[in-house]
Amino acid sequence: MKEVPGVFFWQFFLLNLFSDYVILGVNPPQTAFYFIPGLAAITAWVEALIFKAIAGRRPSGFRKGAAYVYYWLLLIVHNLLLFTDLFLLFQFNTVFSQQSLDLILGTNPKEAEEFLVAYLTPQLLIGGIAAIVLFNCALYFAGRAIANFGRRHLWIHIVRYLFVLAGAAVLGYMVYGFVRYRHGAQIPTFTVPTRVAYSFIQRYANNRRTERLIEVCRNAQVEKGRTPDFDIVFVLGESYSVYHSPLYGYNKPSTPNQTKWVADSSLTVFTDVVTTEDWTQKVLTSIFCPGESAAEFGNHPLFPVLLRKAGWPVRLYDNEFLVSADSYFFSRPDLSELMFDSRNDRFEKYDGDLVAKVQPTDSAAFTMIHLMGQHFQYVDRYPESYARFTANDYDSERFSAKQREILAHYDNATYYNDAVLGQIVDKFANRDAIVVYVSDHGEEIYDCRDYFGHGNALSADVIDYQLRVPMMIWTSETFRREHPGLQEAIDRAAGKRISTNDLAHFFLDLAGVNTTELYPARSFINDSYNPGRPRVVLNSIDFDRRAVKAPEPTFPAPVAAK
Ligand SMILES: [Zn+2]
Repeated sequence: MKEVPGVFFWQFFLLNLFSDYVILGVNPPQTAFYFIPGLAAITAWVEALIFKAIAGRRPSGFRKGAAYVYYWLLLIVHNLLLFTDLFLLFQFNTVFSQQSLDLILGTNPKEAEEFLVAYLTPQLLIGGIAAIVLFNCALYFAGRAIANFGRRHLWIHIVRYLFVLAGAAVLGYMVYGFVRYRHGAQIPTFTVPTRVAYSFIQRYANNRRTERLIEVCRNAQVEKGRTPDFDIVFVLGESYSVYHSPLYGYNKPSTPNQTKWVADSSLTVFTDVVTTEDWTQKVLTSIFCPGESAAEFGNHPLFPVLLRKAGWPVRLYDNEFLVSADSYFFSRPDLSELMFDSRNDRFEKYDGDLVAKVQPTDSAAFTMIHLMGQHFQYVDRYPESYARFTANDYDSERFSAKQREILAHYDNATYYNDAVLGQIVDKFANRDAIVVYVSDHGEEIYDCRDYFGHGNALSADVIDYQLRVPMMIWTSETFRREHPGLQEAIDRAAGKRISTNDLAHFFLDLAGVNTTELYPARSFINDSYNPGRPRVVLNSIDFDRRAVKAPEPTFPAPVAAK
């Protein structure tokens, strides 16, 4: 038992390392690959410290027993979590997370039993147990071999402490991120113990906020406002970058419809819009809640609830969220009932198939269409007939072959997205209607480093690519004729500073809803709009005072369709 702490560390280091790296199966951020060895080392180090504290210097009697119990419990818990992850990965292409926890806890006992009977065959059970025993024996002997080797070679200990120090540095970076940006750069998901703890904390926090929010929504008071007299269509896009949009100066003709609408003046393009966060869930939260910041979510009624109380029918067509057991507010059935009169109950492969289901109603309504847009993987976002661009269309001096291929997929997705917007506009062209398009966040596609995606603006030198978003408003001929004052206000706002955090106020104002939740200084079509309000992004950065700025998108430079 004397040499045990050394063996203990290496055995659990290997176990942690193996378990943590399972996350590579679900495409984590690239940083996961580099951060995990340090995180595994510091986790094993803490586990070994606890072991030493229990066992004492000369383990005997009670302490020896307690140390054994601790060792076996730890081993069993680690194995359970590891094999849960592997099972989820191979069966459902996911790992333990708040979403899978929501799914598990939202499953009723009968469903759970049927599920276990279907998947947990005797062969799998016996094979699984044999694999677990073999795997753990291998780790134990490997740990013992390294510990023995380390007794003759001091440098092994130096390596160990370098790993532990690296782990401490990563954890420090995470704590800083949480304090400053409420954003741990996904590090909590990189180790199994923190991922599991974080899942439970998130679920608990989501549910508590939602309970409060439901009360607030139910009790919201709205004065009877204007009768809905025109259609409002709110199109929430996905991962559409201003830096890859011809409306903002991009040099590929990927948006023929939008370009045409700019030319015939039916489309107003907003040139300076930022979003508060770099991933969908947080952005949706900020758009739906009229509060000033994420901290106020739960204290204000969501804007669709206010629209409905004012007499507007509110409909949702969503290709990203459905009603489910997820604790996220957009998936909760009770909240969904408060927000929407109707909502689709299945996803469509392509956004166009979802839009095909949208039908204008007899009287005016508020229709929200939430697209998958240009979300990665880009190649999955467009039908083959929209493959307009190929790798050959991109600068081979600046981009590698793989990068050029991804750029082509992204531009094809944008090209298809433009056709989807065309489909939407066609449906409302002969009505008194306004279509508001905004992307939830931007996207990096090799703009400033060898990276594509979103959700980690902070790790780039410039946050602009993920946080600046295209926003545009299309209006029908009838709308422009019937509501010249509104049209004028929209056109006047096109160059103003806007944050998507204020959209709830714009929609309430546009719909003529009479509520104390509407703050005119935050509605960009209102005479009282204050464009000088700080645009806080990522919880604590004043976007207009950010340290490094990307070049301004050049506007307007629509490229003519081929
Ligand atoms: Zn998104």
